[in-house]
Amino acid sequence: MQLASDEAYMQEALLEAQKAFEKKEVPVGAVLVFEGNIIARAHNLVESKKSALAHAEMLCLQTGAEILGNWRLLETTLYCTLEPCPMCAGAMIHSRIKRLVWGAPDVRCGAHGSWINLLDFPHPIHQIVVTGGVLREACAERMKLFFKKRRENGTFI
Ligand SMILES: [Zn+2]
Repeated sequence: MQLASDEAYMQEALLEAQKAFEKKEVPVGAVLVFEGNIIARAHNLVESKKSALAHAEMLCLQTGAEILGNWRLLETTLYCTLEPCPMCAGAMIHSRIKRLVWGAPDVRCGAHGSWINLLDFPHPIHQIVVTGGVLREACAERMKLFFKKRRENGTFI
């Protein structure tokens, strides 16, 4: 399925975020695109998998490597509804994705400038082209609703 724009691919990532929301997971979604096609999609599963590693981006990169039969995800673009954390940004550099498009900033953990900036810092081997803030409001809205609900239910940490 070839889509026309960054916004259209981000909408697909938002569908993944919604799946996380419905599982009471922090609603972050990601899709990986190769030659215009979505080859992997994932959402945050930290609670379900009881793993701090199970961020949407990490799961998406893993599936993408399995699909392409190569850990080097050259010429791919990763769309994620949230600015990635340092773990995911590091995994993206290791995976050599070409491009990252993220939606809402993450003031606590964002690794593209909101907290620290790993992605614009020159890397000796691989530089990812990054576009931030695509469908920012829609991506942020889902997060705000999630945390509002969690506070109301008394489980906010
Ligand atoms: Zn992450």
